[in-house]
Amino acid sequence: MAKGRVSCSVCGGAEVLHVVTAGFTPGKHRAGRVLVYCGECRRRQWDHTPGPGAVYDVSIPIELMTPALFVRMYETGWTQSSWEIASEMVFGRVPAGIRRMMKSRDRG
Ligand SMILES: [Zn+2]
Repeated sequence: MAKGRVSCSVCGGAEVLHVVTAGFTPGKHRAGRVLVYCGECRRRQWDHTPGPGAVYDVSIPIELMTPALFVRMYETGWTQSSWEIASEMVFGRVPAGIRRMMKSRDRG
């Protein structure tokens, strides 16, 4: 399977990408939705703060993201997003390591 292009969830841009979790209710529920934002959309969403969803609990430059760190976000409860959809967003595909780690976690 070809590796998909990784781009901003809002505008499709590819500059200064960050993996973020957008929380639903700050202070109450830290498990946010995994999204990929470019530098510009990340800044704009933050500035406008249209609602609780604009607050990022996690923001990691995409170059630092690894399969192990990705899985760790789930282990520690920072997100409950579908891991298959989220890893396609972040890595352009579902890395074998993530599939293995998440499957053994599901069984655990
Ligand atoms: Zn963008």
